[in-house]
Amino acid sequence: MWRFFLADLHLHTCLSPCAELEMVPEFIVERAQDLGLQIIAVTDHNSAENAAAVVNAARGTGVTVLPGMEVQTREEVHLLTLFDTLEQVTSWQEQVYANLPPLKNDEALFGEQLLLDAVGEPVGYLDRLLITSTGFSVEDVAKRVRELDGLCIPAHVDRPMYSIISNLGFIPPELDIQGVEISPNTGPVEARERFPQLARYSLVASSDAHRLKEMVRRTTLKMEAPTVAELSLALAGVEGREVWVDGLRSGATVC
Ligand SMILES: [Zn+2]
Ligand SMILES: [Zn+2]
Repeated sequence: MWRFFLADLHLHTCLSPCAELEMVPEFIVERAQDLGLQIIAVTDHNSAENAAAVVNAARGTGVTVLPGMEVQTREEVHLLTLFDTLEQVTSWQEQVYANLPPLKNDEALFGEQLLLDAVGEPVGYLDRLLITSTGFSVEDVAKRVRELDGLCIPAHVDRPMYSIISNLGFIPPELDIQGVEISPNTGPVEARERFPQLARYSLVASSDAHRLKEMVRRTTLKMEAPTVAELSLALAGVEGREVWVDGLRSGATVC
């Protein structure tokens, strides 16, 4: 049975040094409810340490939280990596941490990285530097995330920095992805005009929110359940599933 889900699949918590301290689980879930969102994803930079707190804060609210991460590859490309369970994202985090340079965060330069426990209480500051590149290539991330039954979506592909198009010059056709994210400043029509290669991919539009007021309800998913597997099928346009952005069908327009 089809259902329609409003989704914002790219949110930062107070763990991301560039995010405001108001990005705590209780407020994020409250804002999601105010916006009528049914699915949100927690995607801090190179870490999922605060994901459990947001998952737990949403229990019983009708909002599904996909625990994830925004990984920076060695080409300085940002990729959203989304999962269904905390176990999956924890396994992924182990791989990411093992491939992050062991540098310390400079709070004066980048900001604080506030860690929360599973019930959302502050437990201290993470002192390893999150805002940096992992040793993974774009292909490595897509492959490893697939092996963990997760989903990889290139982030803000229309931006001039940290995007797959700006940094690689194109989206490698063999890359195992079905959809890409456009940023808050770009609509789906404009994105497809600027980047004709996007015709091969479904588009989603998320907020990349670092503040509560930045969260958006631009993406609607027609699918059976709020899971990564269904999201993956929706991006691929399988068996009647659909993706809409700003009220327009945003599935791939060519195969
Ligand atoms: Zn980014
Ligand atoms: Zn981001």
